[in-house]
Amino acid sequence: MTYYSYGYYGGYGDFLANNIYCILLIPVFLLSVWAQFQVSGSFRRYSEKTNRRHITGAQAAEAVLRAHGVYDVNIRSCRGNLTDHYNPKDNTIYLSESVYHVPTIAAVGVACHEAGHAVQYAMGYGPIRIRNAIIPATQFGSKFSFILLLIGLLLYSQPLFLLGIVLFSLTTVFQLITLPVEFNASRRAIETIEGQGLLYEDEIGGAKKVLRAAAMTYVAALLMSMLQLLRYVLIFAGRGGSRGGGRE
Ligand SMILES: [Zn+2]
Repeated sequence: MTYYSYGYYGGYGDFLANNIYCILLIPVFLLSVWAQFQVSGSFRRYSEKTNRRHITGAQAAEAVLRAHGVYDVNIRSCRGNLTDHYNPKDNTIYLSESVYHVPTIAAVGVACHEAGHAVQYAMGYGPIRIRNAIIPATQFGSKFSFILLLIGLLLYSQPLFLLGIVLFSLTTVFQLITLPVEFNASRRAIETIEGQGLLYEDEIGGAKKVLRAAAMTYVAALLMSMLQLLRYVLIFAGRGGSRGGGRE
């Protein structure tokens, strides 16, 4: 069996690049797994706790919209677990079955967060407009970056590899802009929950935990994407430094 020598990859630079990536990958991977567990764990935990005002997810979402003077958004239920989302195309908040009809602390938190996204659209919140504007470029980037990186690597073409990196970085930028969008939706949610008294004081902590865990998954996704980008940049730099030295 033939094994690629370091020379094939481009020398010590690549060896180092791969190792830095592997070392950083462990904490980022652990953070991703931890965040996922936190989301499902906190959602399950606070789905068992009925809120004392008996406000369902649908009612809570409605309250957020009203509090922000938004009246033209539909609220519908959808299948699945943790499938809640706002769809700007049909201007509808979709709440899962365990949120829509259910008067729990978790349902109120999640529903208010999704309503927060609807409010962002209604008010023309800056980061969500930027995020929407770059969606086509991001989709293009995620489609073609991998093939360019692969061709660049196999043909030993630095320009193609660099183009692959640039296209891949669009995904990272998208995930970066997603952060303020998500944090802002949660902030609006909590403000309304407190302002409108949707939950009692001692119940708000549970809703905050659910939303904080959800936000952490976006942070983890961004870190993972940044790490991947770093890996490509290091490989690119390593190959540049040892150009012509590795391949016969
Ligand atoms: Zn969100």
